[in-house]
Amino acid sequence: LHPSLFAEPVRDANISFEFFPPKTPKMEETLWQSIKKLEPLDPAFVSVTYGAGGSTRERTHRTVKRIVEETSLVTAAHLTCVGASRDEVNDVIRQYKDDGVNHIVALRGDAPEGVDCYTPHPDGYVNAEDLVKGIRDIGDFEISVAAYPEKHPDSPTLAADLENLKRKVDAGATRAITQLFFEPDVYFRFLDHCQSYGIDVPIVPGVLPVTTGAMLRTFVANCGANVPAWLSEMFDGLDDRPETRKMVAAAIAAEQVRKLYAGGVRDFHFYTANRADLTFAICHMLGHRPPAGTPGE
Ligand code: FAD
Repeated sequence: LHPSLFAEPVRDANISFEFFPPKTPKMEETLWQSIKKLEPLDPAFVSVTYGAGGSTRERTHRTVKRIVEETSLVTAAHLTCVGASRDEVNDVIRQYKDDGVNHIVALRGDAPEGVDCYTPHPDGYVNAEDLVKGIRDIGDFEISVAAYPEKHPDSPTLAADLENLKRKVDAGATRAITQLFFEPDVYFRFLDHCQSYGIDVPIVPGVLPVTTGAMLRTFVANCGANVPAWLSEMFDGLDDRPETRKMVAAAIAAEQVRKLYAGGVRDFHFYTANRADLTFAICHMLGHRPPAGTPGE
């Protein structure tokens, strides 16, 4: 680790947090403990994911609504168009408009499990670009879209993927949030490519604090992100040491964020997995802290 990496804590970064809609009352309690812990860090926004194929439509909506009603947080709702007609998707968009939710993370979604390639619903939006256009037609939303520094697995080339991202931005997206990645150079190279394609919206890095080797093998492998050998090895021998794994995870993610910051990045989106501890610790190391006098745990 370079000695100056933690010398000057970040003070001017914008942070945002991603949550997923809870399935059970117990998970709901965990989510709310996390939200309460992270809220004083004053994130630019928090977002709530939409389950595969719209499976969490109601739960996402309920979670977003509760955050809007019970906190001061600016809230973004993820929305996918897979497996749904335009009318169904438009109903969801209008509902968010009525609820005062002005930020949508517009996504295509994945083909259902066991189906090889993505096919749009016969009456649905074709892809995320098409969905962005639909959202724009309904209201004046802030729209974030997905970006893939190591290209989307469905895309034949990185160039085709960049053209797709450019089309999403031209359709009205105001921000892109990246799929997770682990080497800052991967992100910086991607930024250069975005620039050369005239993609001029913020490309916010998505940061996932990885806590287990199993997480790397399953979740991460499925999204096409390259897992460096050093990262997998970092969790070797720690299967029975969850506390140590957490510390290792925080150190790795903080180092990643600091390197990005040193390269000029000021916006960071944390995939929290509804757990506040790690994200809170990383933000603390980076100088993002609750106001003095905020009650502790
Ligand atoms: P798109 O941008 O539409 O395209 C995906 C790929 O298909 C691109 O490679 C593109 O080049 C190619 N493509 C698009 N249109 C065409 C075309 N007409 N012809 C040929 N190729 C085409 N999933 C969920 O289910 N719920 C979530 O809440 C969720 N949140 C996410 C948040 C972030 C920040 C990220 C990065 C991903 C998220 N995902 C989520 C996953 C996402 O739904 C999948 O990665 C999905 O496979 C692609 O969605 P997209 O919006 O990137 O699609």
